[in-house]
Amino acid sequence: MERLKNYINGQWVDSRSEAFDNVLNPANQEVLAQVPVGNAQDVADAAEAAQAGFQEWKSTPVSKRIQYLFKLKTLLENNADDIARTITLESGKTFAEAKAELVRAIENVENACGTPALIQGAFSEDIAKGIDEYMIRQPLGVCACIAPFNFPAMITFWFLPYALACGNSYIIKPSEKVPLTMTKIVALMEQLDLPKGVLNLVQGGRETVDAILEHPFIKGISFVGSSSVAKYVYSKGAANGKRVQAQGGAKNPVIILPDADLEMTSQIVIDSVYGCAGQRCLAASTIITVGEHKDITETLVASAKTRKTGFGLDNDVQMGPVITQASKNRVQELIEKGIHEGGRLLVDGRDPQVNGFENGNFIAPTIIEDIPLDGEVAATEIFGPVMSLVHINTIDEAIRFINAGKYGNMACVFTSSGASARKFRHEAEAGNIGINIGVAAPVAQFPFSGWKDSFYGDLHGQGMHAIEFFTQTKVVIERWLKEWTRKF
Ligand code: NAD
Repeated sequence: MERLKNYINGQWVDSRSEAFDNVLNPANQEVLAQVPVGNAQDVADAAEAAQAGFQEWKSTPVSKRIQYLFKLKTLLENNADDIARTITLESGKTFAEAKAELVRAIENVENACGTPALIQGAFSEDIAKGIDEYMIRQPLGVCACIAPFNFPAMITFWFLPYALACGNSYIIKPSEKVPLTMTKIVALMEQLDLPKGVLNLVQGGRETVDAILEHPFIKGISFVGSSSVAKYVYSKGAANGKRVQAQGGAKNPVIILPDADLEMTSQIVIDSVYGCAGQRCLAASTIITVGEHKDITETLVASAKTRKTGFGLDNDVQMGPVITQASKNRVQELIEKGIHEGGRLLVDGRDPQVNGFENGNFIAPTIIEDIPLDGEVAATEIFGPVMSLVHINTIDEAIRFINAGKYGNMACVFTSSGASARKFRHEAEAGNIGINIGVAAPVAQFPFSGWKDSFYGDLHGQGMHAIEFFTQTKVVIERWLKEWTRKF
């Protein structure tokens, strides 16, 4: 059985901790590898290597730094099938979903190749007579990413390429549930020949995270995961003087107005709710029909029932398992709770039969109708393939319901009216808005803009926010007297 290692100072080394957890294939519980639980000494080793690596990297010209990223893009493209297979094996999502995730990772590498233009400063001549003032951007130092399980490759790439392009050295801490993908990518990245210590990876869970939050060399932390941990990471990291961006959980509402295109809307909504088995922070969760909608319930039910659940590497499978047995139990308990609260189960996906994968953590598409809007299920992130379908009389009531929620990752509207869309965009309290879009995931040039309990911090991942997060501004005011001009 493979025991995963840490990558520190250009070498694969054993963790200093002696305890290991199994990495399981969620489709059949096969043990894929063992991951060290990690400890503070691992983080200290990585932070010291990264601090040493930073000294050379920070003064490597940005035009040279991005040459590594051009090579990285090709490396990821050439190995996409192999990486995607690993993503499917450890996370359960389908091979097509894994490939799509990699496309979004690569998109960020491409965008970070534009860093020479994005990192430019500003210059004002003669702010007073003979005095000029300018601002330059310099890297922070050692930065780290703490990632969740649901996008084993993509999420690290919301940060890593920008951090490196801006001149920081980096420590990756993958989710202990899916450590194989980033381990594989870092092994591929050895071919880039980055200077030693610039790129490091430490395995582990809580203890590793706490050590990252405490180590004095680590200046910037990017976290993605559940809101409770995001808040903890944000407050502890900030208390220790670090710059932190922490993306949290979500509960994404989608409003369907009576003038929406029925066929297109139902297809997009189904894909949004059940893509990646509902384990996306931008998965539509509460589907709100406004006004009269005779046919949409039937269309959604029919479509949910035909979606094929199974092992993600099998060709015709559209949806894989959820990540762990505990996660399956939790989601199924929430379905029960929805029924208990008064919801009607229109499609029951609990404990489906998946031939050949009887031990997998499968839940098939599920629809519960008319759960109470002030109940627990309406407010809880389910993170599984469950649609709550509710009906509300007016767009104003629907927006009021959305704005009363604690999360603000995404809100979407389906309509053919520009005026209704505009009203929604203006009034809905969420950082990512979809208009006739089911998964409003910003492309790499734009910040991934969660609001409320879906984000703690100021600067989000991706785009110009990433450049700002990974640099600190230095302002210089300088005076040159005319009389010092030399005559040659
Ligand atoms: P999680 O919070 O359990 O874990 C995330 C990371 O934190 C992991 O690396 C884990 O090792 C670490 N961790 C877990 N518990 C910890 C603790 N008590 N103390 C310190 N570190 C801890 O999240 P998950 O289950 O891996 O991922 C799913 C969650 O992530 C969902 O809530 C989802 O909405 C969210 N998510 C958000 C976004 C976004 O952009 N907002 C994107 C993807 C996922």
